[in-house]
Amino acid sequence: MLAASICNELRAIVGSSWFRDDAESLIAYSYDATPLYQSMPDGVVFPASTEEAAAVMKVCARHRIPVVSRGAGSNLCAGVVPLHGGLVMVMTRMNRLLEIDEDNLTATFQTGLNTKRFHTAVEETGLFYPPDPSSMIICTMGGNIALGAGGLRGLKYGTTKDYVIGLEAVLASGEVIRTGGKLVKDVAGYDLTRLLVGSGGTLAILTEATVKLIPKPVYRRAMLAVYSDLHAAARTVSRIVANRITPCTLEFMDQPTIQVVESFARIGLPVEAQAVLAIEQDGEEAQVERDLRQIEQLCAAEGAIQVKVAESPEEGAKVMEARRSALAALSRLRPTTILEDATVPRSKIADMVLEIQRIAAKHNVRICTFGHAGDGNLHPTAMTDARDADEIHRVELAFEEIFDAALRMGGTITGEHGVGRVKAPYLEWKVGAAGIDLMKRLKAAFDPDNLLNPGKLFAETRRRIVWSAGEAGDAKREGTRHDD
Ligand SMILES: Cc1cc2nc3c(=O)[nH]c(=O)nc-3n(C[C@H](O)[C@H](O)[C@H](O)COP(=O)(O)OP(=O)(O)OC[C@H]3O[C@@H](n4cnc5c(N)ncnc54)[C@H](O)[C@@H]3O)c2cc1C
Repeated sequence: MLAASICNELRAIVGSSWFRDDAESLIAYSYDATPLYQSMPDGVVFPASTEEAAAVMKVCARHRIPVVSRGAGSNLCAGVVPLHGGLVMVMTRMNRLLEIDEDNLTATFQTGLNTKRFHTAVEETGLFYPPDPSSMIICTMGGNIALGAGGLRGLKYGTTKDYVIGLEAVLASGEVIRTGGKLVKDVAGYDLTRLLVGSGGTLAILTEATVKLIPKPVYRRAMLAVYSDLHAAARTVSRIVANRITPCTLEFMDQPTIQVVESFARIGLPVEAQAVLAIEQDGEEAQVERDLRQIEQLCAAEGAIQVKVAESPEEGAKVMEARRSALAALSRLRPTTILEDATVPRSKIADMVLEIQRIAAKHNVRICTFGHAGDGNLHPTAMTDARDADEIHRVELAFEEIFDAALRMGGTITGEHGVGRVKAPYLEWKVGAAGIDLMKRLKAAFDPDNLLNPGKLFAETRRRIVWSAGEAGDAKREGTRHDD
């Protein structure tokens, strides 16, 4: 609990209604979209400006209070669960789009801006910001930057890290820095912009950002390729790319996912198929049509049993929407849905999907796999029940083996969701002891008192923090967490 004098200092900065420490607010900001993790903060603060965020941080630095920056809380790595209590700083009041600079092809905004709103505003000017996380209706640009979010268009256009060129950030001391700017060329010193992208709120609070924009593609068209053999689908992915075609979207769904998505979206997906590829290309109309014809031939040559090119933009949009709804569809099956993002080189996709199926069977858990096949970013998704401790334990073991398999195949433990708390125990598998040591020294240079999002990136315990709704109030009162 924060001392009354500290609460008063915070109220004086943001205004009394924008600092909260009532039970409802504390519970509401004790968890995020990641199942099974919860920890109570001591207060929640909603700054309206960089100045307010910096002043709050100065108070916290003086009193050694942890601060967790939070956008929409849609992350899947327990990134905004306040493991050490302290303040949750919610950035969503700082949501202004400050500028779209059509001469320099950049946009500058406050980081609490909603991603979909940003996309819409940019596209109204005929420009385009490609990174498109499936969660963009709910998430913020700050959260996307802090986790280096990817999306369905990552294969052709890259991810958030490829677009951020300037940042304004509040340091753990409360000082404000600016990195980069609107320049395409800028090599003045260390690239702090790149370092802060993906830092998950552990190095600084991001308050403003400048990103690159590109001209909006004038034409797009989608298609669906259906397979009775998983390997044939995976081979097609490699063949398309090897033939120097880069579709903007190249998505994969395995059979269990197809069945669930079809019962949810009812768009006529082939429920008997072993795999489908949802493919979309954008650009100049003639080029798009040429690419699609070639892709169609490659799908057929690799054994697709059906290839259907969308007759209209609406039909194409439906196919892509169905893929975007995969998580929502799967989450209808069981009370708890745990989605991971193990990533492998695209040539290993079939091996990885089969390995996931083998591991799921070994541990007797239900795991479906879908994902961004073009960049090897798979989303093995477990349908389970948080109340069944034994099953949750088996899910944990299965995911541990899946991360290990991804690394053995030359991949990574997270393609786009970030490390947060969930992947922290596995980060050393990926970067090695020396890598962890260097990252810890970087963290100490930015944040010597470990105030910014403590408990993330670096493992403190391997265990998941399990909670149930009935325990939430007690957790606050006792200041306890529930380790399984
Ligand atoms: C249905 C669904 C689909 C998803 N699809 C995708 C997808 O396709 N691709 C993808 O990459 N992710 C996806 N995600 C995960 C999630 O939406 C992204 O990670 C998103 O970037 C999180 O944004 P947010 O605003 O919700 O951030 P939060 O969840 O609030 O925070 C995420 C992290 O960023 C930090 N942070 C947030 N704002 C700031 C700030 N201003 N300064 C410093 N640190 C900050 C937090 O401390 C935390 O570590 C999906 C999630 C869901 C629920």
